[in-house]
Amino acid sequence: MAKNPLHCSFCGRSRDEVKILIAGQEGHICENCVEHAREIIDQELAIKDDRSNSSFKLTVKKPVEIKKFLDEYAIGQDEAKKVLAVAVYNHYKRLQQKTADNGNDIEIEKSNIIMVGETGTGKTLLAKSIARMLNVPFAIVDATVFTEAGYVGEDVESILTRLLQVCNYDVAAAERGIVYIDEIDKIARKGDNPSITRDVSGEGVQQGMLKLLEGTDVLVPPQGGRKHPEQKLIKINTQNILFICGGAFDGIDKIIARRVQTNTIGFNVDKEMQETMKKNLLRYVNATDLKAFGLIPELLGRLPVVTHLDPLDATTLRAILTEPKNALVKQYKKLFELEGIQLTIEEDVLDFMVEKAMEYKLGARGLRSICEGILIDAMYELPSSKETQFTLDLEYAKRKFDKSKLSLLKVA
Ligand code: ADP
Repeated sequence: MAKNPLHCSFCGRSRDEVKILIAGQEGHICENCVEHAREIIDQELAIKDDRSNSSFKLTVKKPVEIKKFLDEYAIGQDEAKKVLAVAVYNHYKRLQQKTADNGNDIEIEKSNIIMVGETGTGKTLLAKSIARMLNVPFAIVDATVFTEAGYVGEDVESILTRLLQVCNYDVAAAERGIVYIDEIDKIARKGDNPSITRDVSGEGVQQGMLKLLEGTDVLVPPQGGRKHPEQKLIKINTQNILFICGGAFDGIDKIIARRVQTNTIGFNVDKEMQETMKKNLLRYVNATDLKAFGLIPELLGRLPVVTHLDPLDATTLRAILTEPKNALVKQYKKLFELEGIQLTIEEDVLDFMVEKAMEYKLGARGLRSICEGILIDAMYELPSSKETQFTLDLEYAKRKFDKSKLSLLKVA
């Protein structure tokens, strides 16, 4: 019997040896080869996807665009925004370089950042806004968990647990993420700085943190907390993880003053003058001051970029109420709108809110409590009414504010 002449042009198997033979113009392909080809295609596409992801070509924004983006969410703080924009941009560049050069060229070192600024001036807001824009994993952690109750605190490595969690334990993704470490000043060692009163073994935590910032393989407990023998640890290389640290560094202004030999800060200088000086002083903050505050030099060496945030003045607070993309006033208007009610807030009410925030030293965080205190009754009653309009005027605002718990905060 003559052999069936039809065969697969790829593997050479004859018609009898395969189940299906698909005819092409000049040849045939069997089901096995189709399957094989499918696998090759899948693999190739996956590699391409990976490359396009890690080069971030499509999404990376230029520093000016990053700053513009930040402007939509945060008011002022231009220097911090610029520094962050450049650092984040360069971070992308580094990642791109890694894949493009195979390590043959000059290696750009990462520039981890420290932001110094009073609480409530927008450090976390800036970090969060950056996260919103990025397509790399981003985690926010608080340095105080490593110090609370001394040695009972979490292991420093659990900083990376948070990062792993946000990217569903995708190690490769976590290895090029960004971590914001808040309250870094709380792990300063007791020393020159007068405002740190308890020894929270900060130096030990700083040493631990060094390891993370250095760019080595770190063993991370997948569930966070403290490592224990039964837990399987995940290895993460931190070489490409960008660390941004933030802290209020209470009292650092005095250290800066000492350094820049400004002797005008004293008991005889009036308060307003002191505030202006303080604002200006933070602008001069550098690694020497942070060292004097209690951060160890090795750690500072790994955090080469130091920037500051300005305290918020009345003009800034006023802008914060209305200007950012999700400004408080816009949020309340939206809330009312969802009830079918048009909310109008008169201009002098906004001034009143700012005035109270300044008077009670509540900062930007206080603005929300003030709005809430003033609007709580309206938000309680209006949904059950037939109203379609609500105008918040000064008289109403003052009355509600005086009734609210906030007014009790006033220091005589
Ligand atoms: P920090 O981390 O410096 O203590 P946050 O970033 O948490 O302060 O700020 C607290 C809140 O105050 C933010 O959620 C935001 O609503 C508001 N806020 C603070 N600073 C600004 C700013 N510069 N622009 C807009 N909103 C701000």
